[in-house]
Formats: sequence, C-alpha cells, structure tokens
Amino acid sequence: MNSERVKGMNKQYDVVVIGSGPAGYVAAIRCAQLGFSVACVEKWKNKKNKAVYGGTCLNVGCIPSKALLDSSHKFLEAQNDFDLHGISLQKLGIDVPKMLARKDKVVNQLTDGIKGLFAANKVEGIFGTAKIKGPNTVAISDCDGDNHDLEAKYIIIATGSKPIDIPPVPIDDKIIVDSTGALEFDEVPKRLGVIGAGVIGLELGSVWARLGSEVTVLEALDSFLPSVDREISRNVSKIFGKQGLNIKLASRVTGYSLGKGGKKQINIEYSDQDGEEKKTFDKVIVAVGRRPMTEDLFDDKLQIDLCDRGFVKVDDQCKTNISNIFAVGDVVRGPMLAHKGSEEGVMVAERLAGKKTQVNYDLIPSVIYTHPEIAWVGKNEEELKEEGVDFKTGSFPFAASGRALAANDSEGLVKIIADAQTDRILGCHIVGPSAADLLQQIVISMEFSASAEDIGLTMFSHPALSEAVHEAALAVNGHAIHIGNKKKR
Ligand code: FAD
Ligand code: NAD
Repeated sequence: MNSERVKGMNKQYDVVVIGSGPAGYVAAIRCAQLGFSVACVEKWKNKKNKAVYGGTCLNVGCIPSKALLDSSHKFLEAQNDFDLHGISLQKLGIDVPKMLARKDKVVNQLTDGIKGLFAANKVEGIFGTAKIKGPNTVAISDCDGDNHDLEAKYIIIATGSKPIDIPPVPIDDKIIVDSTGALEFDEVPKRLGVIGAGVIGLELGSVWARLGSEVTVLEALDSFLPSVDREISRNVSKIFGKQGLNIKLASRVTGYSLGKGGKKQINIEYSDQDGEEKKTFDKVIVAVGRRPMTEDLFDDKLQIDLCDRGFVKVDDQCKTNISNIFAVGDVVRGPMLAHKGSEEGVMVAERLAGKKTQVNYDLIPSVIYTHPEIAWVGKNEEELKEEGVDFKTGSFPFAASGRALAANDSEGLVKIIADAQTDRILGCHIVGPSAADLLQQIVISMEFSASAEDIGLTMFSHPALSEAVHEAALAVNGHAIHIGNKKKR
C-alpha cells in the first residue's frame, strides 16, 4: 500500500480524498491508520483568505454556531437567572465583536488541529480545487494557480453541501444572509427575520434572540419540526414561544423591497392563511436547507450517477457506480450531519482494508442545540403507528428531576418508546438540559439492543440529569419512582 513518487510523473496515492470536512478528514485519517498512502484535497479559504481544513462543520457550521449559542446562553443566564442564585451584576452588556473573536479563536484552534492530525497520521494535505478526470485521476488546481494530476487507486468524494437560495429573497451578504453571514453580524439586529424554522433557523434565531433581537421565523410548512415526535415538538413550540421566538407557520415568502432606510431595512413579503402580509426587518437569515456540492467536480466523460437533487448516488456502503470511487457525508443521501459523514468515512476506509464495517443508518442521533436542547434517535410515535408496530412509552419531566431543579433548568422531558411485546427500545426523544449527552446513553443502549428494563435495572448516580433517562425507562413498564405511573405493574 505504499505511494510511489517518480520524478516528473504524477503523484500516486492509494487513496485521494476530496474535501476535508468531518466526512473527508476522518476518512483520510482512518485510511492512513490502516496503512494506505493518502492525500486529502481542500479548496476552502477562510475570511482572511487563508486555506484551511475542516469544511463547513469547523469553519461555518457546527463549531462556530455552538460557540455563539454558548456565548448567548451565558448572556441570557446572566440577565435572567443570576439574580435567582443571589448573584448581582452592576451592569450587563454584550460586546459582539469580542464574542465573534472568541468564536473565531475556537474555529482556528480546531482547523489548525486538523493540520496536526494530518501530520501525525501522515496524510498529505493539499490545498487546491479537485476535479475527477477519470476513475483513477484527480486534477488539482492548487492555491498558487498551478495545475497537476494525482493518480489514485481509490477516490473518496467528500465535497459536502452549501446553502440553498430562494429566488424571492436572494442573498446579498449585507442585509439578506445565509447561515455563514448569520455568524458574523457585528451588532445585534433589532428586528431579525429568519426564513425556515429548521435546525439552522432555530439555532441561529435563538442566538440573536437571546442577545435582544426581536425574531420572527417564517416557515413554509404548516407543521412545526415535522420529523420530531409530536409530543416533543408541541412542548418545544410552547418553550420557544415563551422565549420570544415568533414562529409563523404556513408562511410562504414571495418577495421583498428595501425599506425607507435604503439598504438598512427590508420588507419581506409573504403569504399566509390571512392573505398577503409584509414585515420589516433589519437583517434576514435564509435557512431553507442545503444542497450537495458537485459543481465542476466531474469531467464530462466520467459517467458518475447522480440522484435527482444532485446527490452522488451510492449504496449502503457508500460505493458509487464506479467501483473504485466512493462518496460520503452531505454529498450523499441521508441527514446532513457531521457525525453521519464521519461514520461513513470510517466505514469506507475500513472496507477498503477488507473489514466488514457498516453504518447503522437506523441509529443516527439528531440534536437541535437550542436551550433546552432537542434530541432524538430511532422511531417516534407517529412513525410506529404508521408502521403498525405495537409500542409502549414512558416519560419523565425534568420538573421532577432534583438535579434539573437545583440548576434552575427544568423545562422539558425524556420520552422512551419500547416494543410492547419484547420491551426493546425503539426510540428516545428528549427536550431538556443536556439532551444531546443524555440521548447518547440511549444510542449506546440501542446499539446493544437494550430493553427498557435493562436501563431500569442499571444504577444511575444521584443527583444527575441522567436520572430522568432512568425514570423514563422505568415508566415504560409502570415502575417510575419519582412520578405517578400511568400503568401499575
Ligand atoms: P463539508 O463539511 O461541507 O466539507 C466539504 C469540504 O469539501 C469543504 O471544505 C469544501 O471546501 C471541500 N470541497 C468541495 N468541493 C471541493 C473540490 N472540488 N476540491 C476540493 N475541495 C472541495 N451538523 C451536526 O452534526 N451538528 C451540528 O451541530 C451542526 N451544526 C451546523 C450548523 C450550521 C450553521 C451549518 C451550516 C451546518 C451544521 N451542521 C451540523 C451540518 C454539518 O456542518 C455538515 O453535515 C457537515 O459539515 C458535512 O460534512 P462533509 O464533510 O460532508 O462536508
Ligand atoms: P432544514 O431542512 O433543517 O430546515 C429548513 C426549513 O426551511 C424547513 O422547515 C423547510 O420547510 C423550510 N423552508 C424551505 N423552503 C422554505 C421557504 N421558501 N420559505 C420558508 N420556509 C422554507 O435546513 P437548515 O436549517 O437550512 O439546515 C440545513 C442542514 O444542516 C440540515 O439538514 C441539518 O441537518 C444541518 N444542520 C444540523 C444542525 C445540528 O445537527 N444541530 C445544525 C444546523 C444545521
């Protein structure tokens, strides 16, 4: 599996990975760990025009959004909760440029970290734009404008995704921004419009609402978070209402005009049940989904199969129709989540090395990092009813959790769904503090086909938020101790 370098000839590798987001860099590192010679090509340049690794996730996605969610949550706590704890503040303020600078520092630390990981694992990182010329040839146009080819036994496409634009409200990067622009507002917009009540709309809408923006979210669908268990989405809807997020469902954006202040204000036109409406904002975030990045990636002669919406077509093992070319992450079917892409990257690497690794697509955890967090895995009640599966549920509210009350963070609940006959856990749905971390306990349990009784028989430390998971599992069979049970057995 050694690479050959012959002077004057193209560089040769066992594996060339295109893209260094969480799907690509993980695939590259795992391939190198397994003894392959690997190059990873990346074209991303950050706002300082520096070539960097890490893709959407590290540069403008998961990490910077969570940095701002954490900063804004601390601000909100200082504003609303400190007094309850007997902590008084003289004057509370928000220095937005400082908050953004902290976010940038975290991003730089992590993107530089990938450079270190590549060096430690002997992955050759190459900054440039890749195009697949043939089944074994990747053409690189590097950062200095030089062109050269790489030869590869295997190619892994991990080119990710980018935001979808909508014609009625085109991004201008000034007043109308996408998720990347929404991480860079240099002051808190007084009135913020968000188009799309999906994950990005809720997370980034929350950031600016906590800092004082009056936020209106316009969602085209008439249901809120349709892929979330209905009991949970109803709960979340109430919580967001209390937090001041004004979510308008069934609101279809039709156009815009600039307000009196020229570029400083925008009127968004939309239609809802009441007819044509108009609302004025200082900034608008468009967050209506993302689409795969495949533009200019393939030579016309390369007959790679794409799906209707532009995703690279792959099988369960991420193989394309060309036997030595694979594709992983946002550029292929499935949820656009960093951890899903990383697991696919590991699977492809390990299968190239002859292992039988699989991704369990039934157990991909989803999290919305608002406060409280929303997290789920497996099936929800509506899906199970549609499939005709006989199930039982158990729930536990954080309002009955000693640890949540001690932290003054007791909104939400844990809900566990299990098969009515076998007791095997089929799904878990949480809204509440640290929902992402609590959910992981159930993801692991489900990987081992645990029953609700297995969780019930496990000892949980006290006082901890995870006791809510324990009690919800006990409640599935009517054995919860710290709430009344629906069924008594
Ligand atoms: P990407 O991260 O998009 O990386 C693809 C890389 O390929 C890019 O760096 C790109 O420059 C490079 N590339 C593309 N074409 C070429 C080419 N021709 N040559 C060379 N390089 C190329 N997911 C979560 O799981 N949790 C979260 O909390 C979360 N938060 C998010 C918040 C926001 C605001 C956004 C926008 C996304 C968030 N996501 C989150 C989604 C997550 O970022 C993506 O699912 C993830 O980044 C996809 O990884 P990827 O490696 O497939 O693609
Ligand atoms: P999304 O698919 O989560 O939500 C988009 C929303 O916009 C949907 O509710 C959709 O009905 C609505 N919409 C579509 N067209 C519209 C229109 N014309 N007018 C009004 N509403 C419209 O997409 P997103 O929020 O842009 O996020 C993109 C991807 O990034 C998601 O797939 C998500 O998985 C990923 N992401 C994940 C996280 C996380 O894991 N915490 C965070 C951010 C982003």
